[in-house]
Amino acid sequence: MRAIVVGAGIGGLAATLSLRRAGVDVTLVEQTPRFTEVGAGIQLAPNATRVLRRLGVLDAVAAQAAHPAHVSFRTWSDGSEICRYALGREAADEFGAPYLVVHRADLHRALAAAVPPESVRLGTTVVGIDQDDDSAHVTTATGERLTADLVVAADGIRSSARQWLFGKDEAVFSGTAAYRALLPADEVADLDLPPLAAWLGPDRHFVHYWVRRGELLNVVAVFSTEAAAQESWTAQAEPGEQLRQFTGWDSRVLKVLRRAGQVFRYGIYTRTPLTHWNVGRVTLLGDSAHAMVPFQAQGAAQAILDAAVLGDVLADATPGGVPDALDRYVRRRLAGATSMQARSAQAGSEFHLPDGPEAQARNARMSAHAAEHRFMPQATAWRTDVLEEKQEL
Ligand SMILES: Cc1cc2nc3c(=O)[nH]c(=O)nc-3n(C[C@H](O)[C@H](O)[C@H](O)COP(=O)(O)OP(=O)(O)OC[C@H]3O[C@@H](n4cnc5c(N)ncnc54)[C@H](O)[C@@H]3O)c2cc1C
Repeated sequence: MRAIVVGAGIGGLAATLSLRRAGVDVTLVEQTPRFTEVGAGIQLAPNATRVLRRLGVLDAVAAQAAHPAHVSFRTWSDGSEICRYALGREAADEFGAPYLVVHRADLHRALAAAVPPESVRLGTTVVGIDQDDDSAHVTTATGERLTADLVVAADGIRSSARQWLFGKDEAVFSGTAAYRALLPADEVADLDLPPLAAWLGPDRHFVHYWVRRGELLNVVAVFSTEAAAQESWTAQAEPGEQLRQFTGWDSRVLKVLRRAGQVFRYGIYTRTPLTHWNVGRVTLLGDSAHAMVPFQAQGAAQAILDAAVLGDVLADATPGGVPDALDRYVRRRLAGATSMQARSAQAGSEFHLPDGPEAQARNARMSAHAAEHRFMPQATAWRTDVLEEKQEL
């Protein structure tokens, strides 16, 4: 069985590893000429780290990650703690896999290191995908045509493959944008910051956590905005812009934002849910299928879960059975990923409530939940092993 995976992001790399474990011969095609240090922090909940362990990369990722003992939710104006939920050892024991926070580049590097270099074609842009009854083909920008039994389009939120398969359909601006920065740990050592925190305020929230073994503080300061912002991991903010957006916030938040050197401004986009991700021998995977707002920190995790199930359905498939196998992959993943898109959007609305009765009720709910359950409400999703979730729609 031969597959072409388009896009060597987290989803495409994880899919390549998962397919190889299933005995599929994979060619991974990526437009960028080399892998670079782009991006900042990514949270990896136990539903995803369980899969990384199966793919043989968990130790390498964990060695570069930070392992927060808990997550603290705080009030924007004075930093008072609304509640804290357990992570760390308690979560690892409870869910059988750790909760990690990691620099995207470190996760990417660990996945890429596990893929044999001869399977990867960097600097190769795919400009078309087509298929016939027996095989699927990609055409590259240089006019080359590659053929396999299936094509997996893991080409990200700006997916071209999605348009080729399902017609014109743009990424949708979420009405939110984020300032992102990485600060050396010693620049914020005096602030006594918790290992992972989300500060909630009207129309804004502020998240920070350590990455790279605690050497860097990853900062994400999210705000509602009407103005559609560029969806780019490299677009820089105007000097001081982030301080104006968070005027009146707790002094520790402002100190972090003031000390941040290079601040990126990232427009947050999503994709409208689809009713299916596949056509014949071609399927979407990861952000191309189900890009979501990052407010449940599950974008990369959902791509990793897709990869696990894709490998599972193809492990015992024959080339003739690829379209049926891809149907099974989509039936097993679509409902979960689509509901995570909705839950992520819902979390944003709850985080951004104005001060008043609704915010007070939210805080009371959160602290009651923490007292009763120790783990975050979304932790119920961490318990399920995606490979044991065989029920189909
Ligand atoms: C540069 C970058 C930085 C990011 N940083 C963060 C971060 O700091 N925190 C966070 O939570 N999330 C980040 N993300 C998003 C996060 O990685 C994804 O939401 C998630 O991992 C899902 O990944 P994906 O593989 O589906 O898509 P992506 O990670 O977007 O990967 C898609 C890949 O496909 C390639 N590609 C696209 N079109 C073509 C084509 N026609 N031919 C060949 N290759 C193609 C792209 O170059 C890219 O490598 C980042 C994404 C990118 C691309």
